[in-house]
Amino acid sequence: AAKTRGRGRACVFDAQMEQETRLRFELENALRVAIEREQLTLAYQPLFLLESRAVVGLEALARWQHPTHGNIPPDQFIPIAEETGLIVPLGFQLLRQACHCAVRWRQLAPHLSMGVNISVAQLQAPHFTREVLATLEQTGLPPDKLVLEVTESIFALGRESVLPQLQELYDAGVALVLDDFGIGYSSLSALSELPIHALKIDRSFLWSATDALPVRAQRNQALLRAMVSAGQALDLLIVAEGIETAAQRELARSMRCALGQGYHFQRPLAEHDVAAFLSTTTHASATEALRTALRW
Ligand code: C2E
Ligand code: MG
Ligand code: MG
Ligand code: MG
Repeated sequence: AAKTRGRGRACVFDAQMEQETRLRFELENALRVAIEREQLTLAYQPLFLLESRAVVGLEALARWQHPTHGNIPPDQFIPIAEETGLIVPLGFQLLRQACHCAVRWRQLAPHLSMGVNISVAQLQAPHFTREVLATLEQTGLPPDKLVLEVTESIFALGRESVLPQLQELYDAGVALVLDDFGIGYSSLSALSELPIHALKIDRSFLWSATDALPVRAQRNQALLRAMVSAGQALDLLIVAEGIETAAQRELARSMRCALGQGYHFQRPLAEHDVAAFLSTTTHASATEALRTALRW
């Protein structure tokens, strides 16, 4: 009986795996078509100075509306794009979109910077740096108004394969951010060698530092404070992401994170809502923010 049950379970498992494989295959093909037709879009989430609540920039976030499956989140399709290499053409497509929009919106907010997320596979693609710089030239976006966000996964494959590209972009004046800092592969010594301008502390740290349980909150606040200090010791601008409550905003501010981003301030906006948003908010320059931050 046990044997039969075991086999039955294996059958259910196989069927489920087969279905998942089919879905994955279907998504991969649909993604390829969507990229060919340039159907992926970007949502834009603003970054705020925590002191003054002025907007300094936007982060572009990929969006995919699948014809039958509806809205598919980037956490689902970006990994597929990475594994298939589709991230390279997709990344350039989205970069162009974001730069074009940034140039347009800078007429409303002259200091505005534009953040774009970059996967390791893109950094390793031949001519990545050249393409980025060409896109800046073609669109007219000043290099220091483009912010490229990379994650600690750049450390996983050996730094030699990505460090020269980052250095080249850094030297060209492009702003570089280490995103989701603290959950990945980076060591503090690696951090000091990385040519970057800012650290975006992974939202899990801010969330656990505002835990309902005081003992836990206190311990995690100490950890968060140490991360912020490490960043400031390296003259990096500190960004707190995932701010959902006023308490989280105040905590980030009290720890002297210069910038904040999160649903508490503003959820990601559709492209057609950004101009209206910018015309009703105050803006400032991130460079100013950097100067202010470094005076601390
Ligand atoms: P990320 O770069 O860390 O982006 C922040 C994510 O957190 C976004 O999710 C954003 O919508 C979400 N978020 C912002 N504020 C809050 C908040 O207060 N609470 C919560 N719970 N979430 C918040 P999204 O748009 O789903 O993107 C997920 C991830 O997908 C991004 O994380 C990024 O790693 C990746 N991604 C998105 N667009 C691109 C892209 O164009 N290229 C690449 N390579 N990766 C991308
Ligand atoms: Mg990001
Ligand atoms: Mg992040
Ligand atoms: Mg993330």
